[in-house]
Amino acid sequence: MNVAALSPAASSALPALDPAAGARGLYIGGQWVRPAGRPSIPVVDPSTEAVLSEVPDATLDDARAAIEAAASAAAGWRATPPRQRSEILRRCFELMTARADDLARLISLENGKALRDARGEVAYAAEFFRWNAEEAVRISGDFALSPAGGNHIIVDYEPIGICVLITPWNFPAAMATRKIAPALAAGCTVVLKPASETPLTAYVLATLYEEAGVPPGVVNVLTTSAPGPVTAAMLADPRVRKLSFTGSTPVGRTLLAEAAKNVISCSMELGGNAPLIVFDDADVEVALEGAMLAKMRNAGEACTAANRIYVQSGLYERFAQELTCRMAALKLGPGPDAQTECGPMITAKAVDKIERLVGDALARGARLRCGGTRPASPGFFYPPTVLTDVPLDSAMGCEEIFGPVAALSRFESEDEAVALANATEYGLAAYVFTRDLTRGLRVSRRIETGMVGLNRGLVSDPAAPFGGTKQSGLGREGGTHGVLEFLEAKYIATTL
Ligand code: NAP
Repeated sequence: MNVAALSPAASSALPALDPAAGARGLYIGGQWVRPAGRPSIPVVDPSTEAVLSEVPDATLDDARAAIEAAASAAAGWRATPPRQRSEILRRCFELMTARADDLARLISLENGKALRDARGEVAYAAEFFRWNAEEAVRISGDFALSPAGGNHIIVDYEPIGICVLITPWNFPAAMATRKIAPALAAGCTVVLKPASETPLTAYVLATLYEEAGVPPGVVNVLTTSAPGPVTAAMLADPRVRKLSFTGSTPVGRTLLAEAAKNVISCSMELGGNAPLIVFDDADVEVALEGAMLAKMRNAGEACTAANRIYVQSGLYERFAQELTCRMAALKLGPGPDAQTECGPMITAKAVDKIERLVGDALARGARLRCGGTRPASPGFFYPPTVLTDVPLDSAMGCEEIFGPVAALSRFESEDEAVALANATEYGLAAYVFTRDLTRGLRVSRRIETGMVGLNRGLVSDPAAPFGGTKQSGLGREGGTHGVLEFLEAKYIATTL
């Protein structure tokens, strides 16, 4: 199946979405622009390895044109009353929701994730528009008498300026809307550079924003095979005041250095290495369900995925056996197949990495309980796998597995569990399972991460501040914090 063969929502009265919109060109200033004389970037179906479609490859001049378009639209969008901005964002939510099936099939096709995960992503992604539609009309300032009584302090919150947004392939819709919606709510205009592996969703969403009434130039989308130079060209423009990046920690570090040249405000959502801790007193059913969700949502291709599972010794063997039953029962298959529970990985390179990490753990003495063998069929598949007694010095203890491999190790005491959880440079998410709420809260506070799931395997929520500490990033997305990342405080001192 290629993208052109994706059937539109026949039952819907809405105009059909064009899944191959990106083939028309870069989306700049509300126009589809074809870069002259450049080959296109192929988009590969990870379930079959067939080419689905092609998207344009932006040049440095295209990148500058996209910033120009965002700059031209900036004054008009900033002056648009918050209520009007809010209603446009609300329409984005409604249109995404109405087209949820089409969007989920497209995400599943280009990313490979199981349809049920893709449906979950669409709902999550759309929710950022609803939440930020509500935030857009609640941005307020402060007014105070200075403590000495000599003057008044007025604080206004202004849109920060033009924003460059860069997103990864693992959530092709949600990582984009988590940035675009608060940026637009704040009154900013943006240029989005989606990942080369999954650009189709970003372009299709651009057509939907247009339909919702987002004016030309407010959202621009470009794809490129040269993300470094293209991003550098955009950040060199002094009108760009924000870089919001989601992706790996090494690329985040490079971008922080690039942004430093023009002292650009940065939000960084980077890599993770989440520990999942199960105490002896946990509700085993809740812990198993939580572990399956934290490990297998998106087939393990999530920054919040449980990378290291630590189980207290009293529950260890039972938990390992029951988790293995559940993992081994998952149906591996092409993302768009309705029966699939675990889709392919994004690329052959991703499978190679998982194979290397599993091989390393086994060589160091880990025990294979299920999976562990790459299928010979086409597609970038790796089966749901469980390893137990994973030695603490295994490579998967410090690297993101980013795949369907549950790595279990045993612990004895609470202090040991906390020390293990914190023995990483990352600090994005963690999960704790215990029936003792006091212990749960105590351990949650001792763990050095931005987010903790306490007796829950899912933390992502558009109404909550998502983000990490340590090498997992800077800033927060979602909740009331998300929109603040796109605002600048303006302080006026006055004597009234
Ligand atoms: P990645 O290689 O860092 O790529 C992310 C984005 O950055 C892509 O759009 C990529 O473009 C672009 N990029 C790559 N090199 C660049 C450069 N030199 N300058 C500017 N842009 C550049 O990450 P990924 O493999 O796509 O995504 C997986 C990573 O994202 C994992 O580490 C995961 O933990 C992290 N992640 C974090 C969060 C979070 O919220 N903390 C959420 C999701 C994912 P191309 O595609 O064209 O290379």
